[in-house]
Amino acid sequence: MKTIGLIGGMSWESTVVYYQEINRRITQRLGGVHSARIVVDSIDFAELVPLQERGDWAAAGELLADSARRLKAAGAGIVLIGANTMHKVAANVEAVLPLLHIADATAAQLLAGGHNKVGLFGTRYTMEQDFYTGRLAEHGIATRVPDSNGRDRIHRVIYDELCKGIFTEASRAVYRDEMARLATRGVSAIVLGCTEIGLLVSGDDCALPLFDTALIHAHAAADWALAP
Ligand code: GLU
Repeated sequence: MKTIGLIGGMSWESTVVYYQEINRRITQRLGGVHSARIVVDSIDFAELVPLQERGDWAAAGELLADSARRLKAAGAGIVLIGANTMHKVAANVEAVLPLLHIADATAAQLLAGGHNKVGLFGTRYTMEQDFYTGRLAEHGIATRVPDSNGRDRIHRVIYDELCKGIFTEASRAVYRDEMARLATRGVSAIVLGCTEIGLLVSGDDCALPLFDTALIHAHAAADWALAP
């Protein structure tokens, strides 16, 4: 089994999901009391958020590259960025260790389900910049995102609530409403392209199938760790 390195803390709420799901998958695949070989380097999210807000992706990339170097020194052979947004600086991390890109793992699941036009929820960075939608497009998957007002509502809930462990019925209703709107725009599934969203909504909240990137990424990582 390869040792997985996980850059966590973005936010720690979803790092918990990664740790749990990677281990669950390993136990499921190997049986008995097997568990994952995993090293987590958890950054302080409060150091990262201001860099995102300023658009200082060079500094953010360095922060994550430092994390990847610590993981490598601790014995990790492969690395995961435990967030969608921070794949903006995937190249910085990939320069240190082999990286399993969250959009590639998600694309594989979407295509296996026959979905090539999907709705995307995430931070404004993920919904509006090319690093994520462009990566899905390379797999032949087209994306539709909410309108500007909808993107704003989704983004605020992520940073003001989900990343702080706040889950409210009011915000669930906002997400439900935005998903219902996207569902009318010719998409066959919705990608939860932020690793905390699956903590707020579930399949019951939308008529379309939901693809939770945190779960997909964690499961793909476990399979990757077991691959020869
Ligand atoms: N976890 C989130 C994501 O998947 C957002 C937090 C962040 O800015 O990294 O994009």
